[in-house]
Amino acid sequence: MGPPGAGKGTQAKGLVDRYGWVQLSTGDLFRMHTAKGTEVGVKVKAILARGELVPDEMTVAMVRARLREIPQGTRIVFDGFPRTVAQAEALDRLLAEFDRRVESAILLDVTRDEILARLLKRAADQGRVDDTPEVIGKRFDVYEVQTKPVLDFYEKRGQLRRVNGVGTVEAIATRLAEAAN
Ligand code: AMP
Repeated sequence: MGPPGAGKGTQAKGLVDRYGWVQLSTGDLFRMHTAKGTEVGVKVKAILARGELVPDEMTVAMVRARLREIPQGTRIVFDGFPRTVAQAEALDRLLAEFDRRVESAILLDVTRDEILARLLKRAADQGRVDDTPEVIGKRFDVYEVQTKPVLDFYEKRGQLRRVNGVGTVEAIATRLAEAAN
């Protein structure tokens, strides 16, 4: 968990490389659908470009389809999901279908200034359509209003762990691995 630009994708990939866990990034999946021009891709393209959230139902259906492909016994790092309380509730039901459960929700804690600097750098490096200053602002707002309540959801269950998300990629990866184990 964490605001846009907190390093969720980078760190999830790091956990995959280090431990052989599987990353399930809804943002990556949506971008893949968009690039391939699938039915889902056509529906979500404009939503992503505006920095808004894709409807829960479509997101959860996509996650279910991806879960079917992941072998039992493999640890999954969700990245960018759940982003609403409804998604978090759906995730519990979904995982039960696959005889799985949430172990913990890890928040990458990063200051707003640090994030803005990172996102503008990513915009220059990667050219993501949703990394313009305007859309970045929108994504922050969406995070504040729709995703922050998800932190409370896991905090109430005693599953929220906070990790300092400022430092080198390696230092943060080590902190994360400690929090995840
Ligand atoms: P991300 O790469 O995680 O920043 O996601 C990029 C965009 O994909 C978001 O701004 C949303 O438009 C969409 N998206 C990713 N994950 C979700 C989700 N869990 N629920 C709804 N929309 C999502």
